[in-house]
Amino acid sequence: MCGKLYVVATPIGNLADFSYRAVEILKTVDLIAAEDTRHVKMLLQHYSINNKLISMHQHNEEQAAPSLVEKLKGGLNIALVSDAGTPLLSDPGMPLVKLAKQHDIQVSPIPGACAVIAALSVSGLPVTRFTFEGFLPRTSTARKTFFNAKKSETATWVFYESSHRILASLEDLLEVIPGERRVVVARELTKLFETVVNDTLESVLEKVKNDNNMQKGEFVVLVEGAVIEKHTAEITEEQNHILQVLLKQCSIKTAVAMATEITGARKKVLYQAALDMKEN
Ligand code: SAM
Repeated sequence: MCGKLYVVATPIGNLADFSYRAVEILKTVDLIAAEDTRHVKMLLQHYSINNKLISMHQHNEEQAAPSLVEKLKGGLNIALVSDAGTPLLSDPGMPLVKLAKQHDIQVSPIPGACAVIAALSVSGLPVTRFTFEGFLPRTSTARKTFFNAKKSETATWVFYESSHRILASLEDLLEVIPGERRVVVARELTKLFETVVNDTLESVLEKVKNDNNMQKGEFVVLVEGAVIEKHTAEITEEQNHILQVLLKQCSIKTAVAMATEITGARKKVLYQAALDMKEN
């Protein structure tokens, strides 16, 4: 019988953020595949876990996955951990999980800390819809291209950032989206210097620029989604209905001209409403 692959989340700072079940699994599996074996040893020592470790990081994971899958097929249970938080989330693990699933090996999550989820939970921004972008490109030009592509995103969007680039990233962001958009910088979550700033982009940037400490540590940045003005709200239900019927039969230009004629509503408003309808 095949063994099981456990994907185990580890703390993102505070060692106490580790579940009883995670400890139990790491004690009882046959092997732990870890992103950095030296790093994970601190956590294992803290919880008196004495188990076999094998290194699996971004530079060897493609090559390491097949032999780990062979071990799973041979009946061994394996736990996968990264340096912090949930494996695969901007962390190694994808090739192993993918290959294990291709071989019908059971893959079980042992959930726990994850910086993106922790940040969302305290951000004060809408969380019903969000997009996670991982790490942003390193160059300013590529970042601005990325921000331009995201600027009309209506869901909250979240990215990871390092201390080297937090200031530059926020500066680039201000060149692309309005300064009054709300932004949250969640820094050093669960650690001694945990700071969560929720303000307009302009104010957040000022705070980060003027306080050196705000440029140290690990960061999650969250950006409020764009509010798309819905011009359909500006017309009556009847005008809306007429426009919808016409749009099914003719081009936007003709539908708007006819709807203006029929309803007497302003052409510009009907045109914007028609564009909104076509988008949805
Ligand atoms: N797999 C991890 C997770 O579940 O969140 C993320 C690993 S990724 C390589 C590391 C990045 O996550 C950091 O550069 C930072 O952007 C973010 N991060 C990790 N721990 C954090 C913390 N305690 N506070 C804020 N951001 C954190």
